[in-house]
Amino acid sequence: MARYTGPSCRLCRREGRKLFLKGDRCISDKCALARREGAPGQHGANAVRKKTGEYGRQLREKQTARRYYGVLEKQFRKYYDMAEKMPGITGENLLSILETRFDNVVYRMGMASSRKEARQLVLHAHFRLNGKKANIPSILLKPGDVVSLKEGDRDSVKIKELVERMQTTAAPAWLEIDKENVSAKVLSVPAREDVDFDFNEQLIVELYSK
Ligand code: SF4
Repeated sequence: MARYTGPSCRLCRREGRKLFLKGDRCISDKCALARREGAPGQHGANAVRKKTGEYGRQLREKQTARRYYGVLEKQFRKYYDMAEKMPGITGENLLSILETRFDNVVYRMGMASSRKEARQLVLHAHFRLNGKKANIPSILLKPGDVVSLKEGDRDSVKIKELVERMQTTAAPAWLEIDKENVSAKVLSVPAREDVDFDFNEQLIVELYSK
């Protein structure tokens, strides 16, 4: 399964925005974006100063969304094509699809400090989907689906820490959390206001509509 394996902070510096890819480090003063200004590389500072045209802004917004959710180009394009065929506003549909990825749901229920960690947990089959084994991070969940921690996994130190994290995490309104049983039920399709990042999804639509 292909994925980006380079340095995470480099992606934030390229976009000039915090993408929250490294968990708690992102909200600490160790965040690379807080310590170093400019895009990565020898000419990074110039890249930030350079004026960005219409295409550049559309491209950067798409890259931001893709990196924020940890999705590669091919899959992102597939989501866009799905969003376009759905009733409603394409940009909002796209964000809604991204939010319902299995790894994102694990992150949003508070069982991981980042989407990257959530992806790892899913790949290692620490969660059940509707009571059954599921280890594909890109599965799209629908209302009624239930994600739960695999029985017996609570004993590991790492999982115990994550369960503690979950107890103090505020989940979005579209997820019903059962803190005692470490599970989350999808109540509805996430709406635009449920996305906790300031995307300009219309720019992505404009990019792909060319
Ligand atoms: Fe981005 Fe987090 Fe690195 Fe800061 S610490 S640059 S938010 S990945």
